[in-house]
Amino acid sequence: MKSTTATPRVIGHFIDGAGTRETESELIDRRAPGTDEIVSRVLRGSAHDVDRAVGSARTAFDSGTWQHATGMERYVILNKVAELIDREAANLARLDAEESGKPITLAEGDIAGAAGLWRYAASLALHVQGRSFTNNGPDFTGLVLREPIGVVGLVIPWNFPALILSQKLPFALAAGCTTVVKPSEFTSSTALEIARLTAEAGLPEGVLNVVVGDGQAGGAITAHRDVDMVSFTGSTATGRKVLAASAGNMKKLSLELGGKAANIVFADADLDDAAAGVVFGVNFNNGECCVSQPRLLVQDTVADEFIADVARRTAQIKVGQPLDHASDVGALIHAGHLDHVTSFVDNANKYGGEVIAGGQRLQGGEYGNGQFMAPAIINNVASTAPTFRDEIFGPVLTVTKFHTAAEAIELANNVDYGLSNSVWSKNTDTLLDTAKALRSGTVYANTTIDGIPQMPFGGYKASGVGREMGEAGFEEFTELKSVNIRTGKRAGSFPIPGNRS
Ligand code: NDP
Repeated sequence: MKSTTATPRVIGHFIDGAGTRETESELIDRRAPGTDEIVSRVLRGSAHDVDRAVGSARTAFDSGTWQHATGMERYVILNKVAELIDREAANLARLDAEESGKPITLAEGDIAGAAGLWRYAASLALHVQGRSFTNNGPDFTGLVLREPIGVVGLVIPWNFPALILSQKLPFALAAGCTTVVKPSEFTSSTALEIARLTAEAGLPEGVLNVVVGDGQAGGAITAHRDVDMVSFTGSTATGRKVLAASAGNMKKLSLELGGKAANIVFADADLDDAAAGVVFGVNFNNGECCVSQPRLLVQDTVADEFIADVARRTAQIKVGQPLDHASDVGALIHAGHLDHVTSFVDNANKYGGEVIAGGQRLQGGEYGNGQFMAPAIINNVASTAPTFRDEIFGPVLTVTKFHTAAEAIELANNVDYGLSNSVWSKNTDTLLDTAKALRSGTVYANTTIDGIPQMPFGGYKASGVGREMGEAGFEEFTELKSVNIRTGKRAGSFPIPGNRS
């Protein structure tokens, strides 16, 4: 197992179909979460860089080459990108694991998932369609045209660098949009690699641009007057800033924000399956996942035995170096985030709750100076506690008991977020009734965290606006235009008779 890259990579922008680098003094060091060694240096993109990238995307859009390419032409290129992602999978997975701290096995799954998303989006390029209305009167035909929205800004977070990029970018491209991508300063490498692959696949220059850097570059994209739409994934706090910045030219927004999912376990569930699902749901991707399931709600009649089983399984989780295939949980994204996550465990007593497993930082030996912690469980957490309500974004499970289904639903819905939840029961009435009552964009029933490209994904409440993936996610990148065509010549001319509002 190789722990890190020997010489830090230098990461610049990708504008107008080519990589660009400017002065060394503007570089941001990226330390690998697993080792604290510098693995990459990222250019700090400025408003000027964003301006160049947006200009390139605007010129490419207005040239019509991509927006008027046939569905088949777009399909072939996007499908080719998927093939190239498969070809480069090992390198892409290593880069994501090294920079994000996620276990390499998950990074490999992310890259396979990313290729699948490009393939699915490619298929949608073949089906850009509007409608026609043939009952507007004898001399009228109504056409509803579906057109690409224009230049789209895509702001990507650090927890699934290649995967979340692929939940947005190929869908925007399939619709005929041109794009400016801003990856997180912590995890920029795979966005640049994928940009190079799109050039190899034949994507015309300027259709995809990448500006690296921090929130300054992200802010410049969201405020830019020549950007028609922003698709953002990240925190609800930054999502509010994006909302405000977009007001200048009334951009269309798609915001995929935080979550605080519940895993509701009824007494009649397959408890073995459910325990495995609960442990996976909270620890998947180090718990740094918007659909992570950090709240266990368990029916009181089976609670004690079930919690003991979950604690036993949690103790068996292998926390280790991100590049080690044996690791189940890797290192958290940076030292400040580790402080944030462990503060919830350290304050468990104050907030009301009892730590029954893990929570300590892991240092020295195989952990070195990395950002590691033992997955934690906090029992008997009240619904008023910050641990129950706030997004922790780490491997910390809270446990709360319920007696009736109504209580479980009330507890699950009693947070600001509404991205996803899970429910476990062998009774299909219970599953469906609970799924319908939950205020979240996704409900997993007898399963947990399994994204399907064909199914739309997004949030209720403070978890966001709009949908990604599926046909609904694709349509976010389009505008509808109504064209009412009059044929023939009427006696009397105007006003045109008919049903007018
Ligand atoms: P942010 O929301 O700040 O970051 C998400 C992306 O937005 C990054 O690319 C970031 O760039 C960029 N960004 C930052 N500021 C702005 C801005 N003003 N305008 C436009 N883009 C901006 O998340 P954090 O990294 O600060 O993480 C904090 C918390 O957010 C986490 O603990 C977690 O709770 C939540 N989160 C949720 C995610 C999800 O999947 N829904 C993903 C990531 C975080 P840069 O990183 O370079 O600053």
